Order: sequence, then structure tokens, then C-alpha cells
Amino acid sequence: MGRKLMTILLVLSLTLAGCVLPGKKRQQYQAAYLDVFDTVTSISAVSDSEDVFREQAEQIHSQLLEYHRLFDIYNDYEGMNNLKTVNDSAGAAPVAVDGEIIRLLKDCRDYYELTGHAVNVAMGGVLFLWHEARTAGLEDPDHARLPEEAALREAAAHTDWASVEIDEEAGTVYLSDPRLRLDVGAVAKGWSAQRAAEKAPEGFLISVGGNVCATGPKDGSGTPWVVGITDPDGGEGYLHTLYDTDSAIVTSGDYQRYYEVDGKRFHHIIDPQTLYPAERFRSVTVICGDSGLADALSTALFILPQPEGEALAKKCGAEAMWLDTEGNRFYTDGFEDWICQ
Ligand code: AMP
Ligand code: MG
Repeated sequence: MGRKLMTILLVLSLTLAGCVLPGKKRQQYQAAYLDVFDTVTSISAVSDSEDVFREQAEQIHSQLLEYHRLFDIYNDYEGMNNLKTVNDSAGAAPVAVDGEIIRLLKDCRDYYELTGHAVNVAMGGVLFLWHEARTAGLEDPDHARLPEEAALREAAAHTDWASVEIDEEAGTVYLSDPRLRLDVGAVAKGWSAQRAAEKAPEGFLISVGGNVCATGPKDGSGTPWVVGITDPDGGEGYLHTLYDTDSAIVTSGDYQRYYEVDGKRFHHIIDPQTLYPAERFRSVTVICGDSGLADALSTALFILPQPEGEALAKKCGAEAMWLDTEGNRFYTDGFEDWICQ
């Protein structure tokens, strides 16, 4: 997390380079927040007024904060039914929820089908076991352990979308399987960034934990934003820097959240087939018009064999880049059009 934070800040300083436009008082501003989706959110834009920028950034931030609360599975919030409420009511009762929860879950169901079941937010029971083992392992590295195999298998038996009953008319969600749990971590950041971008003024760059979304070029002359793709091996370099004017750029990586057991790294992206961290890639970046879809795809392409992922990206009109565990890079045909360096 520390390294990721630093990298994001580095990307920001990169995009800040040359921010004062000659002859004008317009300037690039940036606001950063740490209270959304347990990661760093940054909002940037060129503006002639810092006050106007701050106000616009704050509106985007408060929308993201609302999504953070709605999609939280670990905390309750006064006066709000969120995904934790839905999980806690599994097998007991339908829960009346905000329309945005229904909208997100319907998209998640589509992503599940689209990705050939690689991305399944109904796999919360399995993901919870990994989350628990990782949290304990990070707190006490000498006693870090993997989740019990039998517990993983048992949780995996309760991940069926047929038990996620979305009633749009009633505005309720009911998990009819008492053991099923939702965890929307694979898509929530990108999906929320997309919704925020749709409401944001033109020319903003919104990054929610590296899920980047641009709402237009950064100035009137069409100057693109420049977004860095983190090098999983750290350092100050990037795998690439990419131009972005109005697309989403989302990366999934093995360096984002992980812990070690007996010297081996176990990261946070779980292959539903094996119930263990996907082992093919270190990093996958997706570029596409919709940030929610980009987020789902980045997780899916991290799990699927590269040719399958490439076919999926093509089907969705997305570009992608893979870095495998041996350092090989793979690109979709159109990816190079986005490369700055
Ligand atoms: P991302 O960084 O977007 O690839 O998402 C990773 C997060 O998604 C993890 O922290 C888990 O909460 C969740 N996740 C991991 N594997 C899966 C999966 N196969 N399907 C759905 N969610 C997953
Ligand atoms: Mg994702």
C-alpha cells in the first residue's frame, strides 16, 4: 500500500510537470483524498480559479464517498443500508437499498457472464477467507498462514448468482443462500469513478487507487493527460506512460495487496477455478471507454489465459497490456496508439 501510494503520487507529479500555461493564469490543480475505498484518490484539472477547482473536486469526492459507504462490506453507516447490510441479511430478508446498489449489482451480473465467470462478486465468502488470512499475516508475519483448503471449498459452494435476488421494482436485494456474500472490490473503484466522471466537468482526471478516468483533454488546445503504469518491481520508472483524453485506464497487479507465507507472495486476485491467487501475470492494464467495465476486465484478464483475455478485450472494444511472471509483455493491436513512452 505504501509503495502504491508513492507511485500514484509520482504519477501526479509527472502530470503536474509543465502545469502553468504561458501567458495565462490557468494552472493545474490537484486534490488528494485518503478516505475513499481504502486507497488514494486524486482529482486533477486545469483551472483559472483554485476555489472553483476545489469546489468541483469536492463534489466529485463526496459522490465517491457516498459510493464507498454504499459498497462497503466491513462497516455500517448510520441511516444507510449498504452491502454489509445485504450480506448480514443473507438467508433472512430482502434489504431495501439505494438504486445505485441495484445498478452496480446488475452490471456485476453482466460482468460475470461477460468474463466467463472469471469475475464473480458473489464470491465474497472465498474472498473473505483470503482477506482474513492476509490481514492476520500482515499483522503477524511469522505466523502467516493460508486459508484452510476445506474452508475455501465450502465457501466456493455458495457463490451462485441464482441466489442473488435483485428486485428492481421493490428496490431490494435478497441473498437467498445464507452463506453467500458479496464483495465488489474487483469493480467498485472503476465503476464509481465512471459514475463520478459522468457528472464531472470536462477536462478532469480522476484516479481512484490507480483506476484512472479522464473527462476530456486537460486544456483548450487538446493536450492529453499522461498516466503512468506502475512497474510491479517498484522504483520510480513506469512500465509505460500513456496518453489519455477521455478513456478509463485501469491496472490490476500482484503488488497492490498481498502477504507472504513461507517466503511466497499471495496476492488479492483469486482465480475462481483454483480458489488461489491467479499465477499467470504480474500486471494487466486495460484501456476502455467505461471505467466500470475496464475495472472488471483488468481483474478478468489478470486471471484468464492471455489469448482468452485478448479475445475478451477485443469483444469489448478494449485495449490491454499484460506483464507475465517471466517479464514477457503482451499487447492488443491498438495499445501502442496510447503509448507516450
Ligand atoms: P482489482 O484490483 O480490480 O483486480 O480487484 C481486486 C479485488 O477484487 C480483490 O481485493 C478482491 O476483493 C476482489 N476479487 C479478487 N478476485 C476476484 C474474482 N475472481 N472475482 C471477483 N472479485 C475478485
Ligand atoms: Mg478490477
